[in-house]
Amino acid sequence: MDKNCIFCRIIAGDEPGSQVFSDDKCVAFKDIYPVAPRHVLLVPRDHVEALSDIGPQHEQLLGHMLRSAPAVAKAAGVLDSGYRIAINQGKDAGQLVSHLHLHIIGGKTLGKMA
Ligand code: 5GP
Ligand code: ZN
Repeated sequence: MDKNCIFCRIIAGDEPGSQVFSDDKCVAFKDIYPVAPRHVLLVPRDHVEALSDIGPQHEQLLGHMLRSAPAVAKAAGVLDSGYRIAINQGKDAGQLVSHLHLHIIGGKTLGKMA
């Protein structure tokens, strides 16, 4: 856990009520500034800063997170209607929080990707 990391603090229980899914490896919680009616963030419990920090030791974790995405989508209420998964990597993508996270977005017909 990184005490200066907002997502580590949320995993530790800082935002009671926002959590929609959790297991032994990852946690999903509602985005504080949703870009669509349903917008949750799926994060690993371990503090991994970004996709560019992923190494061979994380392959199982990433696979687990992607495999968990439908369960998270179900918890967010978008399993049947559909959803988009996105990872922002670095400045041009607008990555703000340096704790790896999958955006899971839905609840309306989404526009084209930028
Ligand atoms: P990024 O731009 O790094 O891919 O996305 C970070 C996301 O985290 C943003 O969509 C932002 O709204 C969300 N976020 C930032 N701070 C907080 C917070 O304190 N709580 C929650 N629930 N979401 C946050
Ligand atoms: Zn963190």
